[in-house]
Formats: sequence, structure tokens, C-alpha cells
Amino acid sequence: MFSLFEFPRVSVGIAGSTAEFPVRRIHCVGRNYAEHAREMGESGREPPFFFAKPADAVVSVAAGDEGLVPYPPRTANLHHEVELVVAIGVAGTNIAVADAERHVFGYAVGVDLTRRDLQAELKKKGQPWEMAKAFDHAAPIGPIQAAAALGHPSAGAISLSVNGVARQRGNMADMIWSVPEVIAELSTYVELCTGDLIFTGTPAGVGPLERGDRVVAAIEGLGSLAFSIA
Ligand code: MN
Repeated sequence: MFSLFEFPRVSVGIAGSTAEFPVRRIHCVGRNYAEHAREMGESGREPPFFFAKPADAVVSVAAGDEGLVPYPPRTANLHHEVELVVAIGVAGTNIAVADAERHVFGYAVGVDLTRRDLQAELKKKGQPWEMAKAFDHAAPIGPIQAAAALGHPSAGAISLSVNGVARQRGNMADMIWSVPEVIAELSTYVELCTGDLIFTGTPAGVGPLERGDRVVAAIEGLGSLAFSIA
């Protein structure tokens, strides 16, 4: 029976727990690694910036599971972007860089899926490129590892392979804005709240995905996230 007041609650698994992390918003950082900015045709010297995806773009993949992401409509050039995802546990505005880690519940491996052809077309027209980023199933994510157990990663390998072939390889130490800087900066624009996820940007090597491809995204200390394109 249809009800106006019922829709699926979006959540992401928490490693080593039966509890789930409820997702409120998904914020994303654009061009946070200079080498990726350069491969996108920029100088790599402009400051990073923010955009968003809807919470229900999340595809939550449990540890050891294989996710399934349908190939989206309105594109012939779906791109992968492996990213460190920050899960906010404690709300705040105008958060100081030195206090930022106190607002973090944990970290996960995520992939910012992008309709690259649509993005290029919208950019050229000077129109918002929201529809290139904010589509259904556009945010596959692995389980969140609690910072209480993991600590706060500021360096380490971040990589992505497609069908066993390496595509992206970088190091979190090469972020232009560190995680605390991302949190501080974003919190000057909007209040960060429990349940917010922040995709912190992707290293170089982004590229196309085809139907049937198997993607494995990995971050040192956080394990891996695997999914296929259906
Ligand atoms: Mn991205």
C-alpha cells in the first residue's frame, strides 16, 4: 500500500558492528589532488570546491560482499573516482582545523561515480553539473571503520582497479585540503551534522566503466570495496 510517509532509510554498515550509520547528506570535494585536477584540464593550483549527491545515491556494500551498480541512463562515459569518505559523528559549524577530528565518527572507501560526458557538456554551457554527479546509485561505499579503533588516516595508498587492471593510484598525503581542512572549510558553508558523509576527492587515473566491469577500490588501513556494473 502506497504511503506518503514511508521511504527507505539510507544507511551504511559499520565494520565490526550490527549498528548502521544513518546517512543525512553526502558532500563531495572536487579537485582535491593536483594531478587529477591536471588530468581534468585545470592547472592544479585552483583551490578545491564542494558539490553534493543525494543521500539515497548510496550503494552500501558490506565487507566481503560484491555490490551491484546499474549502468546509469543519459551517459556513454561513466567514470570511477576512488575517494576516502569521512563520516561525521558530532555536529558543528565553523569548526577549527585543530578540532576537526573530534567531529569524525569514522572513515570508509567510496567511489564517486560520474557521468563524465554529461559533466563536460554542462560545464561548457556554464550550467550546474549536478546531474553528472547526483544520480541514482552514484555513491558506492564500503563499511565505515570507527576512528576510535582506526585513528585518523592522513597518508597511505588509495587505489582502484577495473577487472584486475590498475587504473588509479595515489596517496592520501597528496590531498590539497587535508581531511581536517575539508571539515573546517565545509563547516563555514553549512552545519555539519551526524550522518553526513564527505567524499574527499580522487587521485589521478579516472576512466570509463562498461557494463560487466568489476571495480575494486582500496585504501590502506581501510580495506577494499568491490562492485560490478550491471
Ligand atoms: Mn570526486
